[in-house]
Amino acid sequence: MNNPTYVYIVGRGHSGSTMLELLLNRSQNIAAMGEIDQLSLQIYRDHRTRWTGLCSCGERPFNCEIWGQIIKRVYETFGFDMVADPFGWKLSDIALEQEYWWRRPQSVIKYRAHRAIRMANQYLNVPLPGVFPYQRWVEHRDFVARSYAELAGAEAVVDASKDVFQMGDLAQYSSLPLKVLFLTRDARGLAWSSARQGRGSPSVEAKRWAIENGRIGKLVRKLPSEMWTQVRYEDITHDVEAELDRIHQFIGIERKALPPEAERAKRHTIAGNRTRLRALEEIREDQAWRDHLTPEQVDEVTRIAGDVARGLGYDI
Ligand SMILES: [Zn+2]
Repeated sequence: MNNPTYVYIVGRGHSGSTMLELLLNRSQNIAAMGEIDQLSLQIYRDHRTRWTGLCSCGERPFNCEIWGQIIKRVYETFGFDMVADPFGWKLSDIALEQEYWWRRPQSVIKYRAHRAIRMANQYLNVPLPGVFPYQRWVEHRDFVARSYAELAGAEAVVDASKDVFQMGDLAQYSSLPLKVLFLTRDARGLAWSSARQGRGSPSVEAKRWAIENGRIGKLVRKLPSEMWTQVRYEDITHDVEAELDRIHQFIGIERKALPPEAERAKRHTIAGNRTRLRALEEIREDQAWRDHLTPEQVDEVTRIAGDVARGLGYDI
């Protein structure tokens, strides 16, 4: 089988990962897979769950021309029928806790245990005995990546799962050339979008922002320098062409740009935010926080997240 480059987007939610993967999908040589850590869950989700799991083409995964083929290959190669048992063949720690939370306590406990174990392994360098499933999950991911690249005729595939522990798993176990895009967005921009969308006050978001970006920053800096680069949301919105050129150079793939309609036609992303179901809108700079956050709120965000933000090159 082929050896596509595995591009992994890591970063805090709402930092623009869906926009970034769709921009990369505008290249003939690159195919965006979406947040593939959700594959099992998207197959599981139907009319009885909070929402129905769909590929961005509008089909259920098993009816999609790409994901349907991949699900078929999983059956042929590994003997697992993901339609009958979506979680029988897993790519990640994501399972039913995402849908039911504490109504499935076992699933929540398992999920949290997997995160704690990888925190110890990746953050504190505690070695892991081979009984854990992380290597197997990455082997499954590699299989999906290879299959997807072959079906899409791409030299690189993009996984927009964002999670930092999954990044650590990939760095340890993937047999494919890995390229990590550490996507960051100005803490003030996220603080305002969080307040506006009811996800938490600016200071609450600033705390979460600092913790998560601080953690990702530490783990990503353990990778060889040619394996990762930081991508700032603001650099994309400021000059999208220049930033896309830089990212292609980093990935090592020639940029063959497609018109927006051609991108939309080849788009089969398995999960991600609603943007993936629409045409990619005009890229605008995110300056709304300047008009909406009070000077006190800006000071508060700066006090909480300033150190981490400055370490990531933000002038805050
Ligand atoms: Zn599809």
